[in-house]
Amino acid sequence: MTPTDSIRQIRKAVKRLTLRVRADGEVIVTIPRAMPQDVVDAFVLGHREWISRKQAEFRQRVPADVERPVTQAERRALQSKVEALVAEHAPRMGVTVREIRLRAMRTRWGSCNIREQRIWISTRLVHYPESCLEAVVVHELAHLIERGHTPRFYALMDQYYPAWREAEQTLNGRLPRRVAPEPDPGGISHL
Ligand SMILES: [Zn+2]
Repeated sequence: MTPTDSIRQIRKAVKRLTLRVRADGEVIVTIPRAMPQDVVDAFVLGHREWISRKQAEFRQRVPADVERPVTQAERRALQSKVEALVAEHAPRMGVTVREIRLRAMRTRWGSCNIREQRIWISTRLVHYPESCLEAVVVHELAHLIERGHTPRFYALMDQYYPAWREAEQTLNGRLPRRVAPEPDPGGISHL
């Protein structure tokens, strides 16, 4: 496989070779007609890191509606989804949740109070795939077993929700940057 196999190459009457990455991740290189292929390949190879970085930037770009307020209907739907997820995962993880609360948290996706057996879930998760919500719920449930982000904690995540890594990548790329942390609703806060 040559370095330019996954790249769309367009030869036309241009003076310079140009490389661009579209929002969908496609790479397009425009090449002067007479330019030898090995020069093109070397150029693309030399820009591999730049291409990956651009593609990652586009993947992590926040959709426009992520910052809009969550409606009451969405909030109710989220509450029942979280309840269903807790009902599904808590018994098999051997934990008990006494209370589920939603909160418009901006700097984290969930938190939990071990002593009170209470978990908090960010309402902003309505804007993300359900796998992200599930990963956050299992994450908070795992804290009821293991307080810190220790190797044991991640072993629990691997055991009870192996897809957590992909979900976390999606969420971390879209966490807004804020200087001041949220006030803690009580207990420990993670994720
Ligand atoms: Zn955590």
